Amino acid sequence: MIDFCVIGSGVSGSTIAHLLSKKYSVHILDKARGPGGRASNKRFKQNLSFDHGVQYISPKSKEFLKLIKNLCKKKEAKIWTGNHLDFTFEKKDVSEKFIGTKGNNFISKYFTKKIKKSFQSPVKSIFYNKYFWEIKLETGENIQAKSIILTCPFAQSKKIAGKYLEKKISNLKINMEPNITTMLAFKNQKTVPISSMKFNDDILTWAAFENSKNRFHSSNSLWTLQSSIGWARKNISIYKKSKKVENTLISKFLNFTGYKKNKIIFKKTHGWRYSYNFVGSPYKSYWNKKLRLGLCADWFIGPKVESAWLSANDLAKKIK
Ligand SMILES: Cc1cc2nc3c(=O)[nH]c(=O)nc-3n(C[C@H](O)[C@H](O)[C@H](O)COP(=O)(O)OP(=O)(O)OC[C@H]3O[C@@H](n4cnc5c(N)ncnc54)[C@H](O)[C@@H]3O)c2cc1C
Repeated sequence: MIDFCVIGSGVSGSTIAHLLSKKYSVHILDKARGPGGRASNKRFKQNLSFDHGVQYISPKSKEFLKLIKNLCKKKEAKIWTGNHLDFTFEKKDVSEKFIGTKGNNFISKYFTKKIKKSFQSPVKSIFYNKYFWEIKLETGENIQAKSIILTCPFAQSKKIAGKYLEKKISNLKINMEPNITTMLAFKNQKTVPISSMKFNDDILTWAAFENSKNRFHSSNSLWTLQSSIGWARKNISIYKKSKKVENTLISKFLNFTGYKKNKIIFKKTHGWRYSYNFVGSPYKSYWNKKLRLGLCADWFIGPKVESAWLSANDLAKKIK
């Protein structure tokens, strides 16, 4: 029987799995097709890849900066250079923007290289039988583990771990906001000297020019558009049914840029029900030694990749 089953291969799941794997056997389960969670990179076919979640990382703590710089040395990460235009004219952001060399799921990929992982393995329920954990998957499969770590967004972890959580955790008010992201490709569009654009708009707030990350050469132009939170709140439950949602986000972009005449050859929209929460919790992670049940994720601390990494490090210390 494995020592630790980690649910989720996002930044927090892969970090805690990596730290625990130095001493214990670890198995990661994720419902998605690949690693990264909200930092995933969507690849549809060659030269058609988008960072549809995390856009870039700007480390604030010394420790996290050290990790990212080390990953730069290993050529897993790099600085996203070029023109980052800010039409909100907010306080000038001078911090460096780090991205993955091949995709923004680089932290998960790097940390889980040698760890046993099962994708397309959605966890349905968990049961503690006084000796070990029984983990039931939607596929009908059952997995047993001595300890379990959940790293999903708050609502999802609460749904799975429910009755095993202490009230101080299950009663937390964590408000994770939605986001709607559209991935877009134009045929033979002339390349532009822009890496990203931040808009002052009620609907469209961000556009990233994927080609500017220099990961592939293509005559097509790839853009990732992200919505405002307020607009996503109104549309997250209908974006799959109504093409109007996708079309509204795209036409905002076309109006801002004047790309109306360019031929769109690809579009795909993804809705993030739980993107991030701006207000964290009084805790950095959770460990119940008696049950051998742990939780770590960004939402304990804040809305960033760095929060997920810090939370996982905090949990590793508690387990030790
Ligand atoms: C649109 C968007 C833009 C963002 N931009 C930035 C940015 O520019 N910079 C930044 O620092 N942060 C950004 N963030 C926030 C960042 O993505 C998160 O803080 C971080 O990735 C969270 O990592 P995590 O491991 O805690 O959670 P997640 O990445 O959500 O990982 C949880 C994992 O659990 C899996 N899972 C869930 N339920 C189950 C289940 N039942 N069974 C099995 N697996 C399950 C999921 O598939 C997922 O892989 C953005 C987020 C979004 C959505």
